[in-house]
Amino acid sequence: MKKAKGWTVVKNGSLFDGTGSPAQANSCVLIKDGLIQYAGPVPQAPPAPPDAMIVDAKKGTIMPGLVEAHFHATYFNVAELADLDIKYPVEYVTLLAAANAKLALECGYTAARSCGSLHNIDVWLKKAIEQDLCPGPRMAAAGREICGSGGLMDWNPDYLKLGMEGLILLVNGPVETRAAVRKLAKDGVEWVKTYPSGDAASPHADHHSLCMTREELDAAVAEAHNFKLKVTGHCRATQGIKNALLAGFDALEHATFIDSETLDLLLARNVPVVPALYFEKASIERGKEFGMPQRAIDGHKETLEGGAESARKILKAGGRLGMGGDYGFAWTPHGDYAKELTFFVTEVGFPALDTLRCATKTGAEILGREKDLGTLQAGKLADVLVVDGDPIKDIRILEDRSRFIAVMQGGIIKAGQLA
Ligand SMILES: [Zn+2]
Repeated sequence: MKKAKGWTVVKNGSLFDGTGSPAQANSCVLIKDGLIQYAGPVPQAPPAPPDAMIVDAKKGTIMPGLVEAHFHATYFNVAELADLDIKYPVEYVTLLAAANAKLALECGYTAARSCGSLHNIDVWLKKAIEQDLCPGPRMAAAGREICGSGGLMDWNPDYLKLGMEGLILLVNGPVETRAAVRKLAKDGVEWVKTYPSGDAASPHADHHSLCMTREELDAAVAEAHNFKLKVTGHCRATQGIKNALLAGFDALEHATFIDSETLDLLLARNVPVVPALYFEKASIERGKEFGMPQRAIDGHKETLEGGAESARKILKAGGRLGMGGDYGFAWTPHGDYAKELTFFVTEVGFPALDTLRCATKTGAEILGREKDLGTLQAGKLADVLVVDGDPIKDIRILEDRSRFIAVMQGGIIKAGQLA
């Protein structure tokens, strides 16, 4: 991805640097050739050349670009499970994914960690974004997801003879799991997404069921780590969380029913979790409109309560949480990503400062890009969000794209009022 040339000074704002420190008033960020030279109070700032480009933060907030930590670029208007893999041909899904990526960047998300994609599209989307062929967040790709046969993601009835190949590599046993990971390694992914447990959305593999065995998870981790890939998984049931952690997972999605034993296992290796809770809330509130069965709605109520409780426990214990949330469903469309942050502050009870740190610094760590991204500190890429307002006082501001003065990647203004 290209970087800006020359100097830029972002000034006249408060600085939230992403580290979790309180915002500092009267601050500025100095950028040279797309990299941050200085971020801090104006009085201590080194001088910038007189021809530097000026970005006026209008007494608003200068913060790191947001990171979507559970992104599905290829999901679009999903109203039922079948919409995920057979509704559109791969050519159209690719175009939808590019449109979703552009929208995510416009929403202030300068980076995103894919948590599964149709047809390896995220791997190629990531390349296209890196080569400036289309705008979007800097990405880590996951390609197709791995699930045990008959598990949550194996929903097409066998009599239709459709298989699930667009979205999922179905496996039976450790040998097939290893083969699936090898295929993904060859495809060029960075994350391997698996299904240790089921979900309330499934008619047959609910949130208390397991979708892969411990042996399959062990095989996934061994093979992925051999190729220097990371492994995550959809973990709701306590036993699924335990199996994933004992297998050596690098992250967990949801970690819904964490207990004290699994919390200790999580903290022992400081494994990050992406709870993705707003999806549950929206499913409960709007599921009926889309024909969601009551059984599923009741299940989402249970996973919302469990997930919120787990997230609070992890935060309190000093664990790491990423913000992201399965956007791309009919009731949680792409573009609504920041509703996740609002939900955590207003309903889960997270302080705004912690929520923003999760959505920036921890997100970059989950992406594996913490050396370049996630905080505004000297030496890092100038992926900066300049907001008209104070999201620490009112987190909802981040839902409103019209409040973004600039969305910058590598010092180049890509979206916002100044684009
Ligand atoms: Zn997901």
